Amino acid sequence: MEDFTVSLTCLFCDAVLEGDTSIEYKSGDFIKCQNCEAENDYDSLIEIAKNKGIEIAKLNVENEIKNIFKKFR
Ligand SMILES: [Zn+2]
Repeated sequence: MEDFTVSLTCLFCDAVLEGDTSIEYKSGDFIKCQNCEAENDYDSLIEIAKNKGIEIAKLNVENEIKNIFKKFR
């Protein structure tokens, strides 16, 4: 299966958040959006990212299965 990444996007303007990679964010932290300057709640971002990840993983699995069946045709 291919690797996939989920980017964190601003809850307010949907811009991709570029968090400071030298900082390790944790629960309760806020990540400031560089686009609209809104403070994004880390916990909400992770929750959304998890859901997105699940969606992408599902699609990947579906494609995998389709490919497997193609081989048998
Ligand atoms: Zn924003």
